[in-house]
Amino acid sequence: MAKIPKRLAPKKYIENKDSETPEREGTKGFNRRDFLKTAAVVGGSALIGSYATASASKDLSGWPDRYGCLTDLTKCVGCRSCEKACNEVNNLPKPETSFDDGSVFKEKRRPTAKAYTVVNRYKNPKDEGTPIYRKVQCNHCNEPACASACPIHAYTKTKEGAVLYDPEKCFGCRYCMIACPFYVPAYDYESALEPKIVKCVMCYDRIKTGGIPACAEACPAGTITFGKRKDLIKLARKKIAETPDRYIDHIYGEHEAGGTSWMYISGVPFEQLDFPTNIPNRPIIEETKGFLGAVPVVFTVWPALFGMCYAALRHRETMEEDKDQNSKKGVEK
Ligand code: SF4
Ligand code: SF4
Ligand code: SF4
Repeated sequence: MAKIPKRLAPKKYIENKDSETPEREGTKGFNRRDFLKTAAVVGGSALIGSYATASASKDLSGWPDRYGCLTDLTKCVGCRSCEKACNEVNNLPKPETSFDDGSVFKEKRRPTAKAYTVVNRYKNPKDEGTPIYRKVQCNHCNEPACASACPIHAYTKTKEGAVLYDPEKCFGCRYCMIACPFYVPAYDYESALEPKIVKCVMCYDRIKTGGIPACAEACPAGTITFGKRKDLIKLARKKIAETPDRYIDHIYGEHEAGGTSWMYISGVPFEQLDFPTNIPNRPIIEETKGFLGAVPVVFTVWPALFGMCYAALRHRETMEEDKDQNSKKGVEK
């Protein structure tokens, strides 16, 4: 197994004065092409390790007024209107079965490249006739492990709370998939030469313009409340205090993995609904290096894959450059 490089100086998120969204120090203007060019000189696997560790930081504290969502699992009726709204707002391919088809509940699903959110059904230990439904999507961590693991900083934690990714930077290494404690980022296998990670972005364009996430808007049961994270925590505490028979005394996401922007309250223990409950109440960032190091594929198979991807992308870029030059010559004639 390749040696894990020594940790580099931590990077901090900073307000980017030229842009609405913050960037990490030292990454402005650094794109996939730069990465690939540099990788060709330095050597793929070593560089990947260096950037992965450079991204791991103790200082990704986010912004105090950031937004979030609170999902009240006692209200969800499993109608999947949220899935439908997400599909439409993100222009995703239509599913093979309609959103009214309850057969999807036979198995537990995870978000995919074609569905950024999914709803799963669970037995209700308190009432067999009334199942519990759980909506799953990116939890928009305060200090996202996906961002810390990404070798080329394709992820950004925005001051609004949403965790975004830049498909132009992503080159499909899938470090983020391994690092995410909630198994969220999905791989778009249909783009073989232009592989991309995809996930929920908390409807960032909508919330930036004063709207709310499409799934929250579409929910007929009022299951999802959008607002400032700190207000959502107060609301959750109030609900739990006022109706202790309805809720367990736990806001999932208040502290898990260092806190998330998308949080949940429930009538049954979260482990009964497949929430990971063995993750630490601190950012996963500090765990990421060790976690990645424990996955041999990252440091053994990956460099070979990197070489193949790099060759394919370079070939494609060369073709594009040739095409550009030829078309310029055509114009000049
Ligand atoms: S849930 Fe996973 S993909 Fe979403 S921000 Fe957290 S680490 Fe990243
Ligand atoms: S916030 Fe937007 S992208 Fe995320 S699950 Fe809801 S509709 Fe989909
Ligand atoms: S739209 Fe609301 S009630 Fe329907 S499945 Fe989604 S979260 Fe549950």
